[in-house]
Amino acid sequence: MTDRAVSPISRPVNAPYSTTDRTTPDGSSAAPRVSFVSLGCPKALVDSERIITRLRAEGYELAREHAGADVVVVNTCGFLDSAKAESLEAIGTALKENGRVIVTGCMGAEPEEIRAAHPHVLAVTGPHQYEQVMAAVHGAVPPKHDPFLDLVPEQGIKLTPRHYSYLKISEGCNNRCSFCIIPKLRGDLVSRPAADVLREAEKLVKAGVKELLVISQDTSAYGVDIKYAESQWKDRRVRAKFLDLCRELGELGAWIRLHYVYPYPHVDEVMPLMAEGKILPYLDIPFQHGSPSVLKRMKRPAALEKTLARIDRWRELCPDLTLRSTFIVGFPGETEAEFAELLAFMEEAQIDRAGCFKFEPVRGAPANDLENPVPDEIKQQRHKQFMELQQKISARKLKKKVGRREKVMIDAVEGHSARGRTRGDAPEIDGTVHISTRRPLKVGEFATVLIERSDAYDLHGSVVGF
Ligand code: SF4
Repeated sequence: MTDRAVSPISRPVNAPYSTTDRTTPDGSSAAPRVSFVSLGCPKALVDSERIITRLRAEGYELAREHAGADVVVVNTCGFLDSAKAESLEAIGTALKENGRVIVTGCMGAEPEEIRAAHPHVLAVTGPHQYEQVMAAVHGAVPPKHDPFLDLVPEQGIKLTPRHYSYLKISEGCNNRCSFCIIPKLRGDLVSRPAADVLREAEKLVKAGVKELLVISQDTSAYGVDIKYAESQWKDRRVRAKFLDLCRELGELGAWIRLHYVYPYPHVDEVMPLMAEGKILPYLDIPFQHGSPSVLKRMKRPAALEKTLARIDRWRELCPDLTLRSTFIVGFPGETEAEFAELLAFMEEAQIDRAGCFKFEPVRGAPANDLENPVPDEIKQQRHKQFMELQQKISARKLKKKVGRREKVMIDAVEGHSARGRTRGDAPEIDGTVHISTRRPLKVGEFATVLIERSDAYDLHGSVVGF
């Protein structure tokens, strides 16, 4: 178990990989260099191989010595006391010879012991935590994009227009909503380290993206699975926590829009960031219903009184807040009274933007076994009623914007007219601002638009500034 035949591994593994010459005209290597020490059993060796493969795929080179490398990774063994002692010694050597050290592997499962002996290590991750190790390396020394060698642009391949982009912060979901099979398909929540998310976000902004749409299955649960682990981002440690991530994203100078947020108490904390203009005053919260009994059958939080009080408070803290949501009508067993509760919730909450789906059974979802399915014609009728009410709320809300000057992002241009979105409109799902302009606009630029009229979902106006 503890044969440590490869200590350090960097020398034997390095040679075959050193064939790519990325030397700059001044003679220095353009690629960041990592010195790698692999200790422990064959399982740890496989972990090392995987990390090294990822490093090489991203353009890192392996250094022969700690001295002169950009960072050192030590994959530790924690099986016996003697193995731990050897791991601690290897970390000490790396700190002495280089100073920038990331620790991973079995001993990383007890980070306190490592930090007690070596408080200055940059990061500690456990065994098999490839993503976290890579995030720590990225934090210490970002990979260099080489436009001559790399097949894809630095920001990756995007299917959205150049000026906005989705930013996925986690995968999977810890909830078990009865109509949904996503947790079965994608498993429980797996959050990306904060530094990893921020690095991607920064790259996108550098590549010209003006708006980042933060997505996941449950954005407000971000980091729960990794116990809000810190990662190194520039000169600071950033926790994988909703508020901390929003704060850092808010520093990038792009519009930051939050999707799929649950109305948990800690969401209150981002309101000041919205009020200050650091992130957009916009929350997409899939409420799904407004009746506590239906929400219980959906296996979703049903404390609607609290939710309504929370929404009031948010609007006090950030009066410009736009709330977007989705709802399901015709969920199995939905009675007239429950549907009326949904409409009452809509009236009370005054949700700015809402989508409505008629319930459809998804194969494998527990909701399919619930009693009293709602007939299609009733679903259709309720959908119509819901949308009529929503249209009235939306029209009322948009009317209040007439006469205001709104900052608008331009999405499409045709001669002297254009289409764009305010801070309260997400692309594809929300409304549009129809703009007339004397000077032709460009897609992706911002313009100040005087709102002259409104209808049920859209605004109309002309450009008065840039
Ligand atoms: S509906 Fe959303 S929150 Fe509910 S289980 Fe599915 S992915 Fe998770």
